[in-house]
Amino acid sequence: MGPDSKDNSEIRDRMRQIIIHVDMDAFYASVEVRDDPSLAGKPLIIGALPTERGVVATCSYEARKYGVHSAMNIKEAYRRCPHGIYMHPNFDKYRQVSEQIRRIWYDYAVKMETIALDEAYLDVTYSAGSFERAGEMAREIKARTLSEVGLTCSVGIAYSKTAAKTASEEKKPDGYFEIRTQQDFVDLMIDRKVRALYTVGEKTAEKLNRLGIYTIRDIQERKQEVLERFGKHGQLITDLAFGIDERQVVEYKPEDAKSLSREVTFQEDTGNYRLLDDVLVLLALSVENRTRRHGLHGNGVTLKLTYADMQSITRSKAITADNAEAIYTEASKLLEKVEKRPVRLIGTGIYNLSGDEGRQMTLDDYLKDPAADKQKQEIIVKRLGELEARYGLDFAGHLEDIYHGNTLHRTIEYMRKHFPNT
Ligand SMILES: [Mg+2]
Repeated sequence: MGPDSKDNSEIRDRMRQIIIHVDMDAFYASVEVRDDPSLAGKPLIIGALPTERGVVATCSYEARKYGVHSAMNIKEAYRRCPHGIYMHPNFDKYRQVSEQIRRIWYDYAVKMETIALDEAYLDVTYSAGSFERAGEMAREIKARTLSEVGLTCSVGIAYSKTAAKTASEEKKPDGYFEIRTQQDFVDLMIDRKVRALYTVGEKTAEKLNRLGIYTIRDIQERKQEVLERFGKHGQLITDLAFGIDERQVVEYKPEDAKSLSREVTFQEDTGNYRLLDDVLVLLALSVENRTRRHGLHGNGVTLKLTYADMQSITRSKAITADNAEAIYTEASKLLEKVEKRPVRLIGTGIYNLSGDEGRQMTLDDYLKDPAADKQKQEIIVKRLGELEARYGLDFAGHLEDIYHGNTLHRTIEYMRKHFPNT
């Protein structure tokens, strides 16, 4: 091993977690096949009909063979797979199944973090106590998910969250895979492309490639350079390249949530309301990310402020919102109307959550002028561009971190300190 072997062994001693990541296989499509066996073995695409606007939500493994994948425009999916079966999603049903499977999974975990309708991290460090027992649990989870719900899932067991997620992907579908140690993770990943690391998106991969960094090994060997070039994100990238990930499983059940919000406390109070409006853009994006993953939308938008004298106010507007545009636009209007005093905290979110009943699929949406929709999306794109120019930021490749809150606070604090004097 290289110069990092000492660091690695220290970290191994500190983190003794056993985490199972469970992920249903082609979830929406599998539910539909279960309920209509005549669909079995056929390329099934859930999202929209080929004549409609929309994107692929999930598709069966048969459809994937034609190059169809989730988030693909439905027209493109149709071009690749014209004989596929196209269906609207049935979110009510998927949510019910989701509750059912998570009840099974929760029997095994000390803590469970739901990260999507069909996906969760289970902390079994204390309920299993060993990788052997965790393996038995994982096989039991698979067997019960199949016998009680009629669906297959893939499980990954590992010492960290990232490794567990990597492991569950490894043998999909109906997969089972273990990554017991940091060294096992590195051995598995070392010759893979940088994109195989969970924090490396398409844009970041391109940037790394331009520097001649193509594999995980390249990242390890040129650690210093990655750290210098990519700043905070570089730390995350290099940590993961060495298998370092000490994040804990955080108990989270979406159905317990009545609201979703993000707030930030500044290190120093600010009376700069243009800055506050900019901050709302990032907070709205972060809220949107969670609504998407859990298939939820809010029936109201809130703005919360705590003034420098600790007085807190909440303003809200009843309006359907499940995306950053809607959340930001409303929160921004609410901000305009408040008393302009220095604040220490700002937050925004949505409340009165309900499941997303395929809102994109209503007749209204089909009849809506696509240009109007696009214009709405452009608000966030335009505002992000303004933020980049104003603060000298570059969001490309970093938005994921902001969505997940990894760098949200640091970015906002950076903005506060670097607001240009005009
Ligand atoms: Mg899945």
